[in-house]
Amino acid sequence: MKYTNLIECRSILNKSGIPGIDYAINPYIGCTHKCQYCYAVFMKRFSGHTEPWGDFVDIKTNAPAVLERQLTRLTRRSHINFGTVCDAYQPIERKYRITRKCLSKLIPYHHSVSILTKSPLVTRDIDLLKQIKDIEVGFTITTLDPKVRRVFEPGTTPPDQRFSAIEMLNRHGIRTWVFVAPVLPYFTDSQQTITQIIRKTRDAGARYIMFDTLNPYPKVWKNIKRLVKKYFPEAIEQFRDFQDDSDHYHNRLRRKITDIGFKNMLPCKFTFGCG
Ligand code: SF4
Repeated sequence: MKYTNLIECRSILNKSGIPGIDYAINPYIGCTHKCQYCYAVFMKRFSGHTEPWGDFVDIKTNAPAVLERQLTRLTRRSHINFGTVCDAYQPIERKYRITRKCLSKLIPYHHSVSILTKSPLVTRDIDLLKQIKDIEVGFTITTLDPKVRRVFEPGTTPPDQRFSAIEMLNRHGIRTWVFVAPVLPYFTDSQQTITQIIRKTRDAGARYIMFDTLNPYPKVWKNIKRLVKKYFPEAIEQFRDFQDDSDHYHNRLRRKITDIGFKNMLPCKFTFGCG
């Protein structure tokens, strides 16, 4: 990571437009997990950053104090999610502990809290998570292949560490789930790979698994195609299929996953319907 800035925020509990989430907490601007399919890259526009996505992080140093103040004004029981446009447990959290301090502010309240992360660092905070009455931790797992991970999400930890983290959280009674987001055409949509991910999820003790497909925002899509061409030219054809007939692709994928989930006795959810 090249650029780190300490900043102050005016608000940390922000209304969310994501269905099922009332408020989002993003302790950082930017994310050094550097996923190449990340839609949060639009944050560059609002924060004025010109560096490549993944090369900068702004640390909201006063977030815990601001959250404490905002929570006193929240009258309705709400669903609060950590990490809608950053990963709240990206590596810099180890040093600054902004997420940890924010979690501690939520303990006296009865809000429902969820965390979505790619990092086993969340297990550091098991002591706090156990004190929040309604809490759920989701792990995004996009691929099991080391080369695919290095190309598409170079700043993340290997998926086996995430599965181990799921096991640990479950041992402590914390609900977990897995988010395959996005399913990458060619890389993660085969019968074999989906079966492997579903089995690992089930064996780690997660309650369910959810699937999302690649959202071809022009900027993200262009970048993905560039990487596929450079590192995996053999996959170009399947990316073309996905692009040319995405309804058909979604239908087939959903049927395939439902079948595998049923055979392996793990509930599967989808963010996409049948076209
Ligand atoms: S972990 Fe999430 S927020 Fe961070 S770069 Fe990856 S997709 Fe974006």
